[in-house]
Amino acid sequence: MRHVSLWRRRCLATLVLALAGAGSATAQTAPAPTGEPIRIGMIEMLSGPFANTGEAVLRNLIWATERVNARGGVKLPAALGGARPLVIERFDSKGQTEEALAMLRGAIDKDIRIVTQGNSSAVAAGLIDAIGKHNERDPARQVLFLNYSAVEPSLTNERCSFWHFRFDAHADMRMAALMNVIRDDKALKNIYLIGQDYSFGQAVLSEARKQLAAQRPDVKIVGDELHPMARVKDFLPYATKIKASGAQAVLTGNWGNDLTLLIKAAREVGYEGRFYTFYGNALGAPAAIGDAGIGKVVAVAEWFPNAEGKSSEVFYDAFRQRFPRPADDYVHLRMQLMIEALAQALERAGAKGSIGAAAVAAELERAEVRMAGQTGTMRAADHQLQQPLMVAVMDRKGAPGVKYDVEGSGYGFRVIRTLSAAQAELPHRCTMKRNCFCCCRPMHNDLHLAPALHHLRPVVAGLEGSLIREVANAGMGRSDVLKFWFGESDAVTPEPVRQAAVASLLAGETFYAHNLGLPELRAEIAAYTARLHPHQGADHWLGRTVVTSGGVNGLMLAAQAVVEAGDEVAVVTPIWPNLVQQARVMGGVIKPVPLQVRDGAWVLDMAALQAAVTPATRLLVLNAPNNPTGWTLSRDEQQAILNHCRQTGTWILADEVYERLYYGEGERQAAPSFLDIAEPEDRLLVAHSFSKSFLMTGWRLGWLVVPPSVLEQMGKLVEFNTSCAPVFVQRGAVQALRGEVDITPALVAHLQSCRDTLVDALLQVPGLTLARPLGGMYAFFRVNGQGDSLTLAKRLVTEAGLGLAPGSAFGSEAEGWLRWCFASQQTDRLLQGVDRLSGWLRRTGL
Ligand code: PMP
Repeated sequence: MRHVSLWRRRCLATLVLALAGAGSATAQTAPAPTGEPIRIGMIEMLSGPFANTGEAVLRNLIWATERVNARGGVKLPAALGGARPLVIERFDSKGQTEEALAMLRGAIDKDIRIVTQGNSSAVAAGLIDAIGKHNERDPARQVLFLNYSAVEPSLTNERCSFWHFRFDAHADMRMAALMNVIRDDKALKNIYLIGQDYSFGQAVLSEARKQLAAQRPDVKIVGDELHPMARVKDFLPYATKIKASGAQAVLTGNWGNDLTLLIKAAREVGYEGRFYTFYGNALGAPAAIGDAGIGKVVAVAEWFPNAEGKSSEVFYDAFRQRFPRPADDYVHLRMQLMIEALAQALERAGAKGSIGAAAVAAELERAEVRMAGQTGTMRAADHQLQQPLMVAVMDRKGAPGVKYDVEGSGYGFRVIRTLSAAQAELPHRCTMKRNCFCCCRPMHNDLHLAPALHHLRPVVAGLEGSLIREVANAGMGRSDVLKFWFGESDAVTPEPVRQAAVASLLAGETFYAHNLGLPELRAEIAAYTARLHPHQGADHWLGRTVVTSGGVNGLMLAAQAVVEAGDEVAVVTPIWPNLVQQARVMGGVIKPVPLQVRDGAWVLDMAALQAAVTPATRLLVLNAPNNPTGWTLSRDEQQAILNHCRQTGTWILADEVYERLYYGEGERQAAPSFLDIAEPEDRLLVAHSFSKSFLMTGWRLGWLVVPPSVLEQMGKLVEFNTSCAPVFVQRGAVQALRGEVDITPALVAHLQSCRDTLVDALLQVPGLTLARPLGGMYAFFRVNGQGDSLTLAKRLVTEAGLGLAPGSAFGSEAEGWLRWCFASQQTDRLLQGVDRLSGWLRRTGL
């Protein structure tokens, strides 16, 4: 069931993409919706000094609703009104909280149940509070609040609410993205902080101080001030002070005219420093600063018109077609994602019988929407949308990477850094009071209808399905597809191993066994470990060995043992997705440490890893040799990582299941291992598996090497997970280890020839980027110029009969890449696959 619904979710997301990709928001692709409109009350400043910001939002929301309506509106069951259009109704708050609250009451009285606002976090805080109280008092008329811009962090932390959903990256996330660039601005020695004097501006400056102290303690803050919000007409005195301070850069969260006027004044006084801004890319700011801003004004956003990729261009062109006036050029992807998420949630909730606020909120908690090549996923725990963030710098239109300017100014923004959603993600401090509103008190009809799924832990309810499976489903039932998508060989387990398991069953070994594994198997594993890591004897390793039900079970046990909810878990990515999801299930907050691509090969940036792993990092997860990239850690790198983690007090989870599938130099026929260099009581857990080096994927057997002092507790955890691995399976494994010399070396030699056959052939195909992997059983390559690996992998299945895994399954930095498992008994199949790939590339002209 779960798979079916995930499949449907993805289809829906793909449909959204297809519609967005079609270009025009108004292209009539379906009959016009005839049901009663679903009204969204936009409470925003539509008059007064910042009226332009409200109008700019309105255009975005109108465009978004037009798109939904053009595809037939929100499709609900007949009992809920059938196909219904979305309509925006405006309420002018004049930027005042009191006025906004009056507008909220007005909207509720007009039977509006969905309100949206964003410009001013102070107003948003007032609305969250008022809506919370109203919904408690008046369950029959509960209201949902969609926030597209109010980014003061507490709104999804201390003040988080079940009724509020934020679609913009909050100020700390934006600041962290800017810091990512500031960190590398080595010439920067001093900086001036300036902001609007209200909750948001204050939060920005305090976070700036905190992050600068942590990441650039060498940078001096030479000015730090707040000014009244929306009331300063003349910023010359501020600009004069900034110039006099000698600051090389200004950091500000200012928005609206408070930014434009500040930048204008800075130009007038001849200030030549950089501007690190949250919003320097719009609403007159680029035109105000002119040439002086080239290379100097830096902005951060979830998307910029010059973002890479065709789908992004199509998206932007479609908006400009709808609003061609240069002054109307203000498109926000997040506002589009917001309306798409709402439409999606309404349809899902409707299918279950209600579109009341509680039912729609429960669906919004697991919203996943995709547009312009970007995906936004709602984090149920705090209702903060997780989406990529980009940092961009101003340049003249036509400069490399600056196809589009903004507002006809002749200046545009070139993207200089992209953070994946996972990289942009930050921990939260929200304690969501979900139960009292939606789930335990039967106050309202909607509540009975909320399906059991919504009573799960949100992190579990929101678990993602496998993207590899999604590609495999596209080829379901097609025998003509050459399948290289899963990570296993097509060779059956050697016969003596199978016979040992059969003998065990026939001998009646059908009972529970030891938590830590059969003594015979543990002894064989210990002897094997001592052969590979002879600096310790078998006795030592025996005291550290836990037999697990597959490598994956060992990894989950490790996560259970060390990760507590809210713990920071650093993960070197791209990586096999289970390793990330397991930490998530435990409530860990993932901090990716992406590998870098150099000459087609993936390499570790040790400085970046050391910067990412801090005393706040509970666990560092690494998989080397790596699935999917083939990246392998050197001994020196392992030592540097171990030293660093000793200093920060961070556990290391080393997934070494591909240890033996290593094609490097040396007699040992194994990749460097943390076990060779660590002390027994280092905080190190190492996962192993029978799957890869013994051709035993379906047996579900592996083992963990743990510190001796931890062994007993791990046995207890095994008890609560699986109690023990099946005895007959373990008997097979005893045989596998005894016959290791007959199995593994021949297997590795064959895999090496597979690797060389495949990689040599792929290197002949024009337009591919790849390097020869040193370990593992995958070739990982990029089709140059291709951004969307899921679509690419599906097209390869349906149009070329070639089954590969999409890179995006392994981390957003692997987007555009494809994984090819070369563990094939017949190397000819690999060559046939390469022929299909190159033929398809030629035919399609990609
Ligand atoms: N770690 C990695 C990196 C893997 O690729 C796999 C299997 N694909 C495993 C662990 C788990 O292997 P198993 O559960 O089959 O032992």
